[in-house]
Amino acid sequence: MSVPDVDGLVAAARDGDARALARLISLVEDVDSCAAEVSAKAARACGGAQKPYVVGITGAPGVGKSTTTAALIAHWRARGERVAVLAVDPSSPFTGGALLGDRVRMQAHATDGGVFIRSMAARGHLGGLAAPTPQVLRVLELGGFGIVLVETVGVGQVEIDIAAMADTTVVLLAPGMGDGVQAAKAGLLEVADVLVVNKADRVGADETVRDLKRMLTTAQETTADGTSDAVGWRPDVVRAVATSEGGVAEVAAAIDRHRDWLGTSGEGVRRRHARVVAEIRAVALGMLVARANLQVDGAPELVELAGLVESGELDAFSAARQLLAASG
Ligand code: GDP
Repeated sequence: MSVPDVDGLVAAARDGDARALARLISLVEDVDSCAAEVSAKAARACGGAQKPYVVGITGAPGVGKSTTTAALIAHWRARGERVAVLAVDPSSPFTGGALLGDRVRMQAHATDGGVFIRSMAARGHLGGLAAPTPQVLRVLELGGFGIVLVETVGVGQVEIDIAAMADTTVVLLAPGMGDGVQAAKAGLLEVADVLVVNKADRVGADETVRDLKRMLTTAQETTADGTSDAVGWRPDVVRAVATSEGGVAEVAAAIDRHRDWLGTSGEGVRRRHARVVAEIRAVALGMLVARANLQVDGAPELVELAGLVESGELDAFSAARQLLAASG
């Protein structure tokens, strides 16, 4: 493949060229390509520009994330925001739009120049979601989006990762599926800044709302001594019927309320700092893995070290240290 013209792509992306933006994202997703160059040039081009506000949306499959995302896009577009959506599928090996064929409601926004939608596979990246997403977010800064919405399927660790990356994390539940108790077990309540009980047109919605409010109260009582991470935010519990856009304005308002609180409490600054720290760590870890992997099976240094460990002359820790030093 020809060497990409990163400068040209960055300039085009700044001018609103969605294809250039998509190409740059592919480049940062592939660490073997010119990810470092893209990352550096994107950061330089953005400088001190206003960062997009990052909203994470997560929940069990089928709970209504895509429907809610589409409704939120419509809401934000109506107030003049440019919106980017990153749909992360932790189980999918596909990337770059393979999933979007299924996302019928998203298609309504596909021709809107103020909306950029991209799907991304998390599988295969070190640490699941963590490795490429911060760089992708950085590239999205080039597009001048006011809001970036990162949608992930809640399957364990991934939603916790997304919470570390988002300014506001929205957790979606539905009556009877992925309900309050399950969410609590999965640690979802702890990461939620806004809780949405979607499918509120179905029976059981009242119970789910009640359960959630009770659990939130209990959680807050147990952290009220200030020794844990009780930072003084109590998530709103919002009902929604995403299919008819019911409650979506309220979801957006709850996100705004949390955004205001992040500003006044100082928590927003703390989160952004923690995010950059995590980003650097993830990149450093990726570099170490790449370095260790340089020593493929059968490489002379690795064979020699393995011999020493086998014969008991060296321990595995010392061997690993030597391996990294040798390939550094
Ligand atoms: P996702 O897997 O979490 O992204 O869920 P989807 O947005 O794809 O929605 C799953 C199914 O639930 C679809 O058939 C939607 O039409 C339906 N759905 C979404 N929101 C609602 C709602 O508020 N009420 C009802 N009754 N169905 C909904």
